[in-house]
Amino acid sequence: MSATCPTCAAADETAAVRKAVLDADRPLDPPTRELLSMPPEPGRTSAAATVFFVLGGLLCIPGLRALFSDDSGGNSSAAYQFGYHYGGFSIAAVLLGIGYFLHSDHRSHRGEATGQWPHTSEQWHQLELVWREAWLCRRCRVAFLRDSPAPSAIPFAQFREWAAATAQNPSTPMGPTL
Ligand SMILES: [Zn+2]
Repeated sequence: MSATCPTCAAADETAAVRKAVLDADRPLDPPTRELLSMPPEPGRTSAAATVFFVLGGLLCIPGLRALFSDDSGGNSSAAYQFGYHYGGFSIAAVLLGIGYFLHSDHRSHRGEATGQWPHTSEQWHQLELVWREAWLCRRCRVAFLRDSPAPSAIPFAQFREWAAATAQNPSTPMGPTL
């Protein structure tokens, strides 16, 4: 299965985008591969946030044990008692809070990096449908849709914006939107 490039009218240098980005024999240069790759699926938690969630969760365990322990730790002051029984929870709450902050921050930064779209998993899957149908021509450095009624070439630099716009308006004719 191959596709004809709308710019040079040849099919010898064309490839499906999804195959070209993974092609180990003829790798694309890193900036191009970055431009033509799918953004990460929204809703995933960053590694840093996960670490804080796990630490917070683990600290709940000694917190629970202290809460149900009769051992006062040898100090009878009310403040000490409170700290002894609830200290573990306080630290866990702080860590969970940091984890939540990192998680939110991670999501908003990624939103900016991908032009505020897609926001949701569903939108991401819409984008993936367009992405899977996209082809490229290595000679002309353009992307296009193989069976598009109005074949138009999209420069690699505009690929992301074009794919997002196409995914959001599947009924409009395929072509450059910029
Ligand atoms: Zn071409």
